[in-house]
Amino acid sequence: MLESDRVAAWFGSHKVLADISLRMEAGQVTALIGPSGCGKSTFLRILNRMHELVPSASLAGRVLLDGDDIYEPERRITDTRKRVGMVFQKPNPFPAMSIAENVTAGLKLTGTRVRGSERTDLIEECLSKAGLWKEVRERLGSPGGALSGGQQQRLCIARSLAVRPDVLLMDEPCSALDPTSTRRIEETIHELRREVTIVIVTHNMQQAARVSQTCAFFLAEQGTPGVIVESGPTTKIFSAPEDSRTADYVEGRF
Ligand code: ATP
Ligand code: MG
Repeated sequence: MLESDRVAAWFGSHKVLADISLRMEAGQVTALIGPSGCGKSTFLRILNRMHELVPSASLAGRVLLDGDDIYEPERRITDTRKRVGMVFQKPNPFPAMSIAENVTAGLKLTGTRVRGSERTDLIEECLSKAGLWKEVRERLGSPGGALSGGQQQRLCIARSLAVRPDVLLMDEPCSALDPTSTRRIEETIHELRREVTIVIVTHNMQQAARVSQTCAFFLAEQGTPGVIVESGPTTKIFSAPEDSRTADYVEGRF
Protein backbone atom coordinates (compact mmCIF):
# COMPACT_ATOMS: atom_id res chain seq x y z
CA MET A 1 0.00 0.00 0.00
CA LEU A 2 1.15 3.47 -0.91
CA GLU A 3 0.06 6.43 1.17
CA SER A 4 0.71 10.15 1.03
CA ASP A 5 0.43 11.99 4.31
CA ARG A 6 -0.14 15.76 4.18
CA VAL A 7 2.14 16.18 1.17
CA ALA A 8 2.85 19.72 0.01
CA ALA A 9 5.10 20.73 -2.89
CA TRP A 10 6.81 23.84 -4.16
CA PHE A 11 8.72 24.97 -7.23
CA GLY A 12 10.80 27.79 -5.76
CA SER A 13 8.31 29.89 -3.82
CA HIS A 14 5.36 28.69 -5.91
CA LYS A 15 3.32 26.24 -3.82
CA VAL A 16 1.67 23.79 -6.19
CA LEU A 17 0.23 21.15 -3.84
CA ALA A 18 -1.16 21.37 -0.30
CA ASP A 19 -2.23 18.80 2.23
CA ILE A 20 -2.43 15.80 -0.11
CA SER A 21 -3.36 12.74 1.96
CA LEU A 22 -4.34 9.72 -0.10
CA ARG A 23 -4.27 5.96 0.39
CA MET A 24 -3.52 3.97 -2.75
CA GLU A 25 -4.42 0.40 -1.88
CA ALA A 26 -2.74 -2.73 -3.17
CA GLY A 27 -4.88 -4.67 -5.62
CA GLN A 28 -6.64 -1.50 -6.71
CA VAL A 29 -6.28 1.07 -9.42
CA THR A 30 -6.40 4.65 -8.15
CA ALA A 31 -7.25 7.32 -10.73
CA LEU A 32 -6.12 10.91 -10.27
CA ILE A 33 -8.34 13.36 -12.12
CA GLY A 34 -8.56 17.13 -12.29
CA PRO A 35 -8.01 20.12 -14.57
CA SER A 36 -4.71 20.91 -16.24
CA GLY A 37 -2.12 22.42 -13.89
CA CYS A 38 -3.65 21.21 -10.63
CA GLY A 39 -0.55 19.16 -9.74
CA LYS A 40 -1.40 15.57 -10.72
CA SER A 41 1.91 14.93 -12.49
CA THR A 42 3.81 16.65 -9.71
CA PHE A 43 2.13 14.40 -7.17
CA LEU A 44 2.95 11.31 -9.25
CA ARG A 45 6.62 12.36 -9.44
CA ILE A 46 6.67 12.83 -5.68
CA LEU A 47 5.57 9.20 -5.33
CA ASN A 48 8.76 7.92 -6.99
CA ARG A 49 11.14 10.69 -5.92
CA MET A 50 11.45 12.33 -9.32
CA HIS A 51 10.24 15.67 -7.90
CA GLU A 52 13.47 16.15 -5.98
CA LEU A 53 15.46 16.03 -9.24
CA VAL A 54 14.15 19.51 -10.15
CA PRO A 55 16.65 21.92 -8.54
CA SER A 56 14.02 24.45 -7.40
CA ALA A 57 11.62 21.82 -6.07
CA SER A 58 10.87 21.19 -2.41
CA LEU A 59 8.46 19.06 -0.49
CA ALA A 60 6.78 18.54 2.88
CA GLY A 61 4.87 15.61 4.32
CA ARG A 62 5.50 11.89 4.03
CA VAL A 63 5.09 9.15 1.44
CA LEU A 64 4.71 5.70 2.96
CA LEU A 65 5.30 2.54 0.96
CA ASP A 66 4.06 -0.40 2.99
CA GLY A 67 4.49 1.78 6.05
CA ASP A 68 8.05 2.98 5.35
CA ASP A 69 8.71 6.62 4.50
CA ILE A 70 10.46 6.69 1.09
CA TYR A 71 11.94 10.07 2.02
CA GLU A 72 13.74 8.92 5.16
CA PRO A 73 17.32 10.22 4.86
CA GLU A 74 18.92 6.78 4.96
CA ARG A 75 16.70 5.42 2.20
CA ARG A 76 18.32 5.40 -1.23
CA ILE A 77 16.57 6.77 -4.27
CA THR A 78 17.30 3.58 -6.26
CA ASP A 79 15.46 1.52 -3.62
CA THR A 80 12.35 3.55 -4.33
CA ARG A 81 12.86 3.39 -8.10
CA LYS A 82 13.02 -0.40 -7.97
CA ARG A 83 9.72 -0.54 -6.16
CA VAL A 84 7.85 2.27 -7.89
CA GLY A 85 7.80 2.19 -11.70
CA MET A 86 6.59 4.97 -13.97
CA VAL A 87 5.01 5.10 -17.41
CA PHE A 88 4.73 8.48 -19.12
CA GLN A 89 2.28 10.14 -21.50
CA LYS A 90 4.61 9.85 -24.46
CA PRO A 91 5.96 6.33 -24.96
CA ASN A 92 9.73 6.53 -24.43
CA PRO A 93 11.36 3.22 -25.33
CA PHE A 94 15.05 3.33 -26.26
CA PRO A 95 14.41 3.53 -30.03
CA ALA A 96 17.65 1.94 -31.25
CA MET A 97 17.68 -0.84 -28.66
CA SER A 98 15.96 -4.10 -29.51
CA ILE A 99 12.57 -4.95 -28.05
CA ALA A 100 14.22 -7.54 -25.80
CA GLU A 101 16.91 -5.10 -24.63
CA ASN A 102 14.27 -2.50 -23.88
CA VAL A 103 12.51 -4.89 -21.51
CA THR A 104 15.66 -5.51 -19.48
CA ALA A 105 17.03 -1.95 -19.73
CA GLY A 106 15.73 -0.93 -16.31
CA LEU A 107 17.61 -3.78 -14.65
CA LYS A 108 20.95 -2.17 -15.50
CA LEU A 109 19.90 0.99 -13.71
CA THR A 110 19.04 -0.95 -10.58
CA GLY A 111 22.15 -3.13 -10.79
CA THR A 112 20.31 -6.44 -11.29
CA ARG A 113 21.83 -9.01 -13.68
CA VAL A 114 19.87 -11.65 -15.57
CA ARG A 115 21.37 -14.03 -18.12
CA GLY A 116 20.48 -16.96 -20.37
CA SER A 117 17.14 -18.65 -19.83
CA GLU A 118 16.35 -16.47 -16.83
CA ARG A 119 16.58 -13.44 -19.12
CA THR A 120 14.54 -15.11 -21.89
CA ASP A 121 11.84 -16.08 -19.41
CA LEU A 122 11.72 -12.62 -17.89
CA ILE A 123 11.35 -10.99 -21.31
CA GLU A 124 8.48 -13.32 -22.24
CA GLU A 125 6.81 -12.87 -18.87
CA CYS A 126 6.93 -9.06 -18.91
CA LEU A 127 5.87 -8.75 -22.55
CA SER A 128 2.98 -11.14 -21.85
CA LYS A 129 1.86 -9.17 -18.83
CA ALA A 130 1.99 -5.98 -20.88
CA GLY A 131 -0.16 -7.65 -23.56
CA LEU A 132 2.53 -7.42 -26.24
CA TRP A 133 4.12 -10.88 -26.39
CA LYS A 134 2.03 -12.35 -29.20
CA GLU A 135 2.65 -9.33 -31.43
CA VAL A 136 6.44 -9.25 -31.01
CA ARG A 137 7.57 -12.79 -30.17
CA GLU A 138 8.94 -13.33 -33.69
CA ARG A 139 10.90 -10.08 -33.75
CA LEU A 140 12.41 -9.53 -30.34
CA GLY A 141 15.61 -8.30 -32.02
CA SER A 142 13.86 -5.47 -33.88
CA PRO A 143 14.37 -1.94 -32.60
CA GLY A 144 11.86 -0.65 -30.05
CA GLY A 145 11.46 2.47 -32.18
CA ALA A 146 9.99 0.38 -35.02
CA LEU A 147 6.84 -0.42 -33.05
CA SER A 148 3.58 1.53 -33.26
CA GLY A 149 2.82 4.09 -30.55
CA GLY A 150 0.48 1.74 -28.70
CA GLN A 151 3.00 -1.10 -28.91
CA GLN A 152 5.77 1.23 -27.69
CA GLN A 153 3.65 2.16 -24.69
CA ARG A 154 3.09 -1.52 -23.86
CA LEU A 155 6.85 -2.06 -24.27
CA CYS A 156 7.40 0.71 -21.72
CA ILE A 157 4.98 -1.05 -19.36
CA ALA A 158 6.93 -4.31 -19.88
CA ARG A 159 10.18 -2.46 -19.13
CA SER A 160 8.70 -1.12 -15.89
CA LEU A 161 7.49 -4.59 -14.89
CA ALA A 162 10.91 -6.20 -15.38
CA VAL A 163 12.13 -4.47 -12.24
CA ARG A 164 9.22 -6.18 -10.41
CA PRO A 165 7.79 -3.02 -8.90
CA ASP A 166 5.20 -2.97 -6.13
CA VAL A 167 3.66 0.17 -7.62
CA LEU A 168 3.17 1.35 -11.20
CA LEU A 169 2.54 5.05 -11.77
CA MET A 170 1.00 5.98 -15.12
CA ASP A 171 0.78 9.59 -16.26
CA GLU A 172 -1.86 9.85 -19.00
CA PRO A 173 -0.54 6.63 -20.59
CA CYS A 174 -3.17 6.54 -23.34
CA SER A 175 -3.49 10.18 -24.33
CA ALA A 176 -1.20 9.72 -27.35
CA LEU A 177 -2.87 6.48 -28.44
CA ASP A 178 -5.70 5.40 -30.73
CA PRO A 179 -8.85 3.76 -29.27
CA THR A 180 -7.67 0.19 -29.97
CA SER A 181 -4.30 0.71 -28.27
CA THR A 182 -6.08 2.48 -25.42
CA ARG A 183 -8.33 -0.53 -24.94
CA ARG A 184 -5.32 -2.86 -24.92
CA ILE A 185 -3.61 -0.77 -22.24
CA GLU A 186 -6.78 -0.71 -20.17
CA GLU A 187 -6.96 -4.51 -20.39
CA THR A 188 -3.34 -4.67 -19.29
CA ILE A 189 -4.08 -2.40 -16.32
CA HIS A 190 -7.01 -4.60 -15.42
CA GLU A 191 -4.83 -7.74 -15.47
CA LEU A 192 -1.94 -6.14 -13.59
CA ARG A 193 -3.83 -4.71 -10.69
CA ARG A 194 -3.92 -8.04 -8.90
CA GLU A 195 -0.14 -7.91 -8.45
CA VAL A 196 0.84 -4.24 -8.74
CA THR A 197 -0.64 -1.17 -7.06
CA ILE A 198 -1.55 1.13 -9.93
CA VAL A 199 -1.97 4.90 -9.87
CA ILE A 200 -3.10 6.45 -13.14
CA VAL A 201 -3.56 10.09 -14.13
CA THR A 202 -6.18 10.51 -16.82
CA HIS A 203 -8.20 13.29 -18.43
CA ASN A 204 -10.57 10.70 -19.85
CA MET A 205 -13.48 10.32 -17.43
CA GLN A 206 -14.78 7.18 -19.14
CA GLN A 207 -11.34 5.67 -18.71
CA ALA A 208 -11.18 6.62 -15.03
CA ALA A 209 -14.59 5.02 -14.53
CA ARG A 210 -13.56 1.88 -16.45
CA VAL A 211 -10.17 1.17 -14.92
CA SER A 212 -10.19 2.48 -11.36
CA GLN A 213 -11.75 1.42 -8.09
CA THR A 214 -10.67 4.57 -6.23
CA CYS A 215 -10.62 8.09 -7.59
CA ALA A 216 -9.20 11.38 -6.32
CA PHE A 217 -10.28 14.72 -7.72
CA PHE A 218 -7.52 17.35 -7.64
CA LEU A 219 -8.22 21.05 -8.06
CA ALA A 220 -6.15 24.24 -7.90
CA GLU A 221 -8.46 27.20 -7.61
CA GLN A 222 -7.17 30.57 -8.80
CA GLY A 223 -3.75 31.24 -7.37
CA THR A 224 -4.02 28.49 -4.75
CA PRO A 225 -2.10 25.20 -4.63
CA GLY A 226 -3.69 21.98 -5.80
CA VAL A 227 -5.69 20.06 -3.20
CA ILE A 228 -7.77 16.91 -3.23
CA VAL A 229 -11.37 18.12 -3.21
CA GLU A 230 -12.74 14.63 -2.85
CA SER A 231 -11.56 11.04 -3.02
CA GLY A 232 -13.30 7.71 -2.59
CA PRO A 233 -14.76 4.78 -4.50
CA THR A 234 -14.88 5.59 -8.21
CA THR A 235 -18.57 4.68 -8.43
CA LYS A 236 -19.35 7.24 -5.72
CA ILE A 237 -17.18 9.97 -7.24
CA PHE A 238 -18.99 9.54 -10.55
CA SER A 239 -22.55 8.88 -9.39
CA ALA A 240 -22.91 10.62 -6.03
CA PRO A 241 -20.04 13.05 -5.37
CA GLU A 242 -20.24 15.09 -2.19
CA ASP A 243 -18.74 18.29 -3.58
CA SER A 244 -20.51 20.18 -6.37
CA ARG A 245 -17.11 20.95 -7.95
CA THR A 246 -16.47 17.22 -8.34
CA ALA A 247 -19.85 16.78 -10.03
CA ASP A 248 -19.15 19.72 -12.34
CA TYR A 249 -15.76 18.32 -13.31
CA VAL A 250 -16.74 14.70 -13.97
CA GLU A 251 -19.77 15.83 -15.97
CA GLY A 252 -17.61 18.11 -18.12
CA ARG A 253 -19.00 21.43 -16.88
CA PHE A 254 -15.63 22.82 -15.82
P1 ATP B 1 -1.79 18.51 -16.79
O1 ATP B 1 -3.15 17.90 -16.60
O2 ATP B 1 -1.81 19.65 -17.75
O3 ATP B 1 -0.73 17.50 -17.10
P2 ATP B 1 -0.98 18.54 -13.99
O4 ATP B 1 -2.18 18.46 -13.10
O5 ATP B 1 -0.22 17.31 -14.23
O6 ATP B 1 -1.44 19.22 -15.37
P3 ATP B 1 1.54 19.64 -13.06
O7 ATP B 1 2.30 19.36 -14.29
O8 ATP B 1 1.79 18.79 -11.88
O9 ATP B 1 -0.05 19.67 -13.35
O10 ATP B 1 1.80 21.15 -12.67
C1 ATP B 1 1.34 21.73 -11.45
C2 ATP B 1 1.90 23.13 -11.30
O11 ATP B 1 3.32 23.02 -11.11
C3 ATP B 1 1.70 24.04 -12.51
O12 ATP B 1 1.44 25.33 -12.05
C4 ATP B 1 3.03 23.98 -13.23
O13 ATP B 1 3.27 25.17 -13.93
C5 ATP B 1 4.01 23.80 -12.08
N1 ATP B 1 5.21 23.05 -12.49
C6 ATP B 1 5.26 21.78 -12.92
N2 ATP B 1 6.53 21.39 -13.19
C7 ATP B 1 7.31 22.46 -12.91
C8 ATP B 1 8.73 22.71 -12.97
N3 ATP B 1 9.58 21.76 -13.38
N4 ATP B 1 9.16 23.93 -12.62
C9 ATP B 1 8.30 24.90 -12.20
N5 ATP B 1 6.96 24.72 -12.11
C10 ATP B 1 6.47 23.54 -12.46
MG1 MG C 1 0.29 16.25 -15.97
